[in-house]
Amino acid sequence: MNPFSLAGQSALVTGANTGIGQAIAVALGRAGAHVICAGRSSSAKTVAMLDSGEELALDFADPMAAGDVFASRQIDILINNAGIIRRDDTVDFTESDWDDVIDVNLKSVFFTCQAFAKAALPRGAGKIVNIASLLSFQGGIRVPSYTASKHGVAGLTKSMANEWAGQGLNVNAIAPGYIETNNTKALRADPERNKAILERIPAGRWGQAEDIAQTAVFLAAPASKYIHGAILNVDGGWLAR
Ligand code: NAP
Repeated sequence: MNPFSLAGQSALVTGANTGIGQAIAVALGRAGAHVICAGRSSSAKTVAMLDSGEELALDFADPMAAGDVFASRQIDILINNAGIIRRDDTVDFTESDWDDVIDVNLKSVFFTCQAFAKAALPRGAGKIVNIASLLSFQGGIRVPSYTASKHGVAGLTKSMANEWAGQGLNVNAIAPGYIETNNTKALRADPERNKAILERIPAGRWGQAEDIAQTAVFLAAPASKYIHGAILNVDGGWLAR
């Protein structure tokens, strides 16, 4: 058996229409999985890139959106990738900018993992990969709800891993560094921030969504079966400095 193969597996990726989620969906598909591309926008373009895939409409403005998804069919791999960010000075930060980010980035992740585990625990097998951030470890600037949500994702990943590791479920996370997606367009367009960021990355370049996608395949595959509660930095060395 190839320990990196996902042949015969079914995976659900949230926020699969673009960016990191799209790259993960395509990489899981290349490794042999059937991929359910879930999100609030159409993932038709991503599905068209897959040998075996389908779309599923899920809007995590409702953190319970995925509640029924896992009961009706076997899904072996869950990738919680959907996420949003809001920027403002902390003294001006609004309750809606707090709640919207916490709902999508943290509360939805918790209840989607819970729904997945209810179906996977009786089977004694399942893989969860949460997309965390450098701001699971660092404070960031003017993004308080994002930082709180991603610290929360790291904590939840460890907490759920502790509960479920002995029952055949692997729960891990990836902390992407600075990756070229819509999410980081504003940073890359600001010459000063862009220069400061690049100077600090030992690898000397922004990350590509593909860099994250290959790590997700590893954490979804049998090869990583003894990895539980890890937050894997894929950041060009940023946190090593
Ligand atoms: P992106 O291009 O903005 O993609 C975000 C994805 O989340 C999109 O598919 C988006 O759908 C989806 N989403 C947002 N709100 C949603 C909702 N209410 N319901 C369902 N789906 C929703 O950003 P990205 O860079 O690929 O980010 C993906 C993940 O990586 C996020 O969790 C982000 O925090 C994390 N991350 C990114 C970086 C980076 O440098 N890019 C670094 C660290 C962590 P729509 O297209 O419909 O909005």
